[in-house]
Amino acid sequence: MSSELGTPVGGASVQDRRAVLAAARVAIDGLAGLLWQVTGPELAPLVEELDALSCAAGGAVVAVVAEADARGEIAASQAGTSAQWVARHAPSLAAEGAGQVARLVQECRRPELAPVRDAVERGRLPVGVGLTVVSEFRALRPMLHDEARPTVLDGLLQMGAEHGRVGVRRLRPAMLARFGDPGVFQEVQDSAGRLVALSRPVGDELGAFTYRLVLDAHGKAALEAAIGPLSAPAPEPDGSRDPRPPERRRGEALIEVCRRAAAVGGGGIPPSGVKSTLLVTMPFADLAARLGAGEVLGSSEVGALLAPESVRRLACDAGLIPVVLGAEGEILDLGRATRLFSRGQTAALWLRDRVCTFPGCSTPAHWCDAHHLIHWVDGGASDLSNAALLCGRHHTVVHRDRLFGWVAADGVQWDRCPGSYDRALERSGPRQDDLAGPAPPAA
Ligand SMILES: [Zn+2]
Ligand SMILES: [Zn+2]
Repeated sequence: MSSELGTPVGGASVQDRRAVLAAARVAIDGLAGLLWQVTGPELAPLVEELDALSCAAGGAVVAVVAEADARGEIAASQAGTSAQWVARHAPSLAAEGAGQVARLVQECRRPELAPVRDAVERGRLPVGVGLTVVSEFRALRPMLHDEARPTVLDGLLQMGAEHGRVGVRRLRPAMLARFGDPGVFQEVQDSAGRLVALSRPVGDELGAFTYRLVLDAHGKAALEAAIGPLSAPAPEPDGSRDPRPPERRRGEALIEVCRRAAAVGGGGIPPSGVKSTLLVTMPFADLAARLGAGEVLGSSEVGALLAPESVRRLACDAGLIPVVLGAEGEILDLGRATRLFSRGQTAALWLRDRVCTFPGCSTPAHWCDAHHLIHWVDGGASDLSNAALLCGRHHTVVHRDRLFGWVAADGVQWDRCPGSYDRALERSGPRQDDLAGPAPPAA
């Protein structure tokens, strides 16, 4: 268990070590009365030493409980449960913690989780963080490639040691994007999309209203990019600091975004293409193959990960600037000008489509995105024969279900069978640079 420690002061026999432990406790008992002897700067290292000791002791408790569990001592005892056994013999854990120790030991009976127990026993992780690693790993496990499991567990342990529980939970998107089965990260983000909600306002006696807003990763990135620049502190007229707390600045920024959006409505002027700018990096190969994840640059969302189809959707219109990376991580200049529809093209598109082109939808043009029927990553050109207006909701649906649309004489038509886009691309054969777009399905 601690053979790497060799034979330090404690010696090789448990008997000797227990004597040293008893001495250490005596040493601590009298310590408070002797603190006058140390200088101010020596106090901090003293705290560090004591903390290392208590951390090591906590880990050793787990090791001993695991041993008792393995040998059947707990089962043979009077205690009804492992937690009760721990609480009885470690009274400091009786109020809180005994259950955690017992649970960790039980969970880590599975050989696959032995590294977690090992990390806790060595004092690298507190018991609670160890349990968070276990529960995160359990949630991720069914979605991972088999051979990636040890790597993921190791990543979770390292994160736990450095950033605690919050860090462990934050790792999930990155782990799914890198080590998940194909498409699983997209699925997880899509299912989060179904939780998106904005409650009706609840008023209070002060005349204020409370909303509850639930967003998925994509919505969060879009919201943060939109309100980011507007929620920065703005100095007072006299040059003094902005007195508004961050929450108020964010709330006011959101109102401002809504006000501006409402002002654009009805004006009939095509958007200039300068929507809120979200920068996302993603390797070209991943974007083309719908693997991995896009990583947000800048804004308060830096580092957030977006699933591949979400990046494609955002990249269709001007709301996002994908920084597409080559195999070596170098930036490929795919030509922003040719990737997006020009102002003139957008105006022509508004005239042609007038409303969202999805069957049955009548969302007006100024609330729509310009969707590339064949995505530019797949070789689609930025011209009118490859464009269609889609409202936000149907834009999401078209990307999520990979639907193929084409421009017919009487307007844009959609094949609403999921996967029709992939089948259309297959029909068109291998990608060519001057790809005019695949043929519509045979009637
Ligand atoms: Zn699109
Ligand atoms: Zn629509």
